[in-house]
Amino acid sequence: MKSVEQHVSDLLALVSVPEATELDLLRAHGTVLAGPVVSEVSLPGFDNSAMDGYAVHAADLTQASPAAPVRLPVVADIPAGDPSPTAIRPGMCARIMTGAPMPTGADAVVPVEWTDGGSVQVRVERPAAPGGFVRRRGEDVEEGVTVLRAGTLIGAGEMGVLAAVGRRTVPARPLPRVVVLSTGEELVEPGRPLGPGQIYESNSYMIAAAAKEAGCEVHRHGFVGDDPAGVQDALEGLLLRADIVVTTGGVSMGVYDVVKEVLTRQGTVEFTSVAMQPGKPQGYGTIGPDKTPIITLPGNPVSAFVSFQMFVRPVLRKLRGLDPAPLPGVRARLSTTVTSPQGRRSYLRAVVAPAESGAEVAHTVAPAVRQGSHQLSALADTNGLLVVPEQVTELPAGSIADVLVLPGH
Ligand code: AMP
Ligand code: MG
Repeated sequence: MKSVEQHVSDLLALVSVPEATELDLLRAHGTVLAGPVVSEVSLPGFDNSAMDGYAVHAADLTQASPAAPVRLPVVADIPAGDPSPTAIRPGMCARIMTGAPMPTGADAVVPVEWTDGGSVQVRVERPAAPGGFVRRRGEDVEEGVTVLRAGTLIGAGEMGVLAAVGRRTVPARPLPRVVVLSTGEELVEPGRPLGPGQIYESNSYMIAAAAKEAGCEVHRHGFVGDDPAGVQDALEGLLLRADIVVTTGGVSMGVYDVVKEVLTRQGTVEFTSVAMQPGKPQGYGTIGPDKTPIITLPGNPVSAFVSFQMFVRPVLRKLRGLDPAPLPGVRARLSTTVTSPQGRRSYLRAVVAPAESGAEVAHTVAPAVRQGSHQLSALADTNGLLVVPEQVTELPAGSIADVLVLPGH
């Protein structure tokens, strides 16, 4: 049997990091920058007021106090976006709103809260510091500086920066388009009545959600039965929308294991056994004229879930231009004894939590009670995968174990 590490590296070799293109701002969220973004503008682009108040000559107010307020005539009104240049002579002031351009001459803003709010004449009871409440041109971003470096993941904050410096497009790799297809004659769409021997289809929803959480664009193609022609048609039909295809089911040793049957014929997909539990039967390769990568996961829901986290997630990260690092691990004190088959690495669904303060290891881990690869209810609470190495058949309660922390937890 193949090791987990070998399978991960074979899968990573299956895909190459896509070329970057100029992506419109609207499509940039969640992508990774392929080059630096240099600002062509300064932020702020002009000196402007940080407050609603009055633009003044600070020197006029040095003596202002509640006992001896200074009165200034208000000679202009400057709203945000005002295009007309205004000049203020000493002894005068302009009413000004937050973000409005500073008039020439004025060197400070007095917040409206320090005044009587007058519109013809204003009474000021406090001195103003020169430069006070004025946002200077370029104090945030100087024209010509790099605001985002290559390799930056564009999240909400980065989107704000890009728009603020006026970028319409960015050099980035488009989000990978993942198409998810499940197979199984027994499957029924959730919400419909179940017949005898039938079960609700859950894998495509679960894997589509996981791929979305891994930052991809996902098309859930749904499911098809175990008829080879139907599977073949579905695979051909979905290629147009796929940068990568992920299937579940039909890859074990059964008579109706249709994915294996159809794809083995084509000769571009390899089926293999990986020394892990759950998730032993795995397949990978390419299909169609464009050699679209395909990863075929086993059908048991827990196997499909664990296989996605171990194998598909790093591949999707590589396609996004990110480091295809495995899940982050922590060391944790085990709550109950667990067992594992000799020669296979177990990934047991578990709940990992912070240990009490002062504990020797920083986490505790409680494996789910039902670990069968068909028993998926515990997936709902699972936030980690407890690792039992290949040569270990039992980990006693109280021992220290490695736990992979699932994304989003
Ligand atoms: P297979 O790998 O196709 O033999 O499926 C293994 C087990 O997983 C069987 O019990 C299937 O009924 C179940 N299974 C397969 N695909 C799905 C699916 N999409 N949703 C829920 N269960 C599934
Ligand atoms: Mg099946």
